[in-house]
Amino acid sequence: MRRIVLVVALGLLAFPAMAADKLVLPPPPFEVERTRSDPDRPARPHAKRYKGEIHDTHVHLDPQHPGEPATDLDEILAVALKNDVTRLSVMPTPNEGRMGKEGSGAKQRVKLREKSQGSGVQVDVRCASDYLSVWMDEDSKPSKDSADKKFARLEADLSGGICRGVGEFGLFHFQKWGHQAVIDYAPRFEGFLRMAVIVADHDMWLDLHAETVEPKGKSREDEVFGLVDLLFQRHPDLKLILAHTAMTNPKNAEALLRAYPNLMFNLKLVTDHSKWRNLEPICNEQGELYEDWAQLMEAMPDRFMIGTDAKFGRPRSPTRKYRKAIKGVRKALGSLGIDAARMIAWDNAERVF
Ligand SMILES: [Zn+2]
Repeated sequence: MRRIVLVVALGLLAFPAMAADKLVLPPPPFEVERTRSDPDRPARPHAKRYKGEIHDTHVHLDPQHPGEPATDLDEILAVALKNDVTRLSVMPTPNEGRMGKEGSGAKQRVKLREKSQGSGVQVDVRCASDYLSVWMDEDSKPSKDSADKKFARLEADLSGGICRGVGEFGLFHFQKWGHQAVIDYAPRFEGFLRMAVIVADHDMWLDLHAETVEPKGKSREDEVFGLVDLLFQRHPDLKLILAHTAMTNPKNAEALLRAYPNLMFNLKLVTDHSKWRNLEPICNEQGELYEDWAQLMEAMPDRFMIGTDAKFGRPRSPTRKYRKAIKGVRKALGSLGIDAARMIAWDNAERVF
């Protein structure tokens, strides 16, 4: 009997994560708006295209796909430069870790960064999602040893001078279309919180993908907003970016921005709404910003940045797609006041990174 007690006690010491399975999240500090927005609501017509420089703060570069021709890194830099995107922040997708060690694109991203020197495009690298997101999702009770190794690697990466932040971290990533892999590990948040401590200690940015509603409509808003609240309670200075405008409606988005002065959003124009069910696209299917989003961006222009979510390194001409995406961004920015447009396109990212 004594032995069993001892083993249990040692187990709790070794796996603090188990205790945290019961982690209680605070309620969101605002009334959550649970009505899904009308996709046919008024939108702002495109006006003259925005012409200034762009920092695209959220793009992906995949590892080399087996059987595919090598990714032409110069082509990525060339298409960025040609479209006056002079800074790119590249990072793994939340699901990159599914492809195992060989499937990590970390080396490619570092190579792109090296190549970018002197090219006219500055490339910053974000890291760690490839070895943390999927692992947290799949390994609900990691051994102390494996957890320590992962977090030691994160410490080393954030201290190493190349990785300039963590992303794109997956918390909830549902099957929105096709065969997208699912990430859903609530409420086992302990590993996530441990990661956040390290990010906060290093004064780095965390770029987080957390879907607030499942494709069939089940709300996860209390979990996402509760977790965000807990993060800021514990680390009031945490630098957090919610990817894709937090994937919630403009009312909740505004409440989040007002509640947490350090919070930023990156924005992506999703024109195929069938691939973004219940995740509140900010534009209609013609790429025009919804009026409510445009007004929020003009009211709080210092809180948004561009994040096209481009997927370089994949087959089927990602550079051609990128040209189109940036054209869409310029059209949408052009419909905003010029000061807001410039802040969102460039100034905010310069300020925060
Ligand atoms: Zn994402």
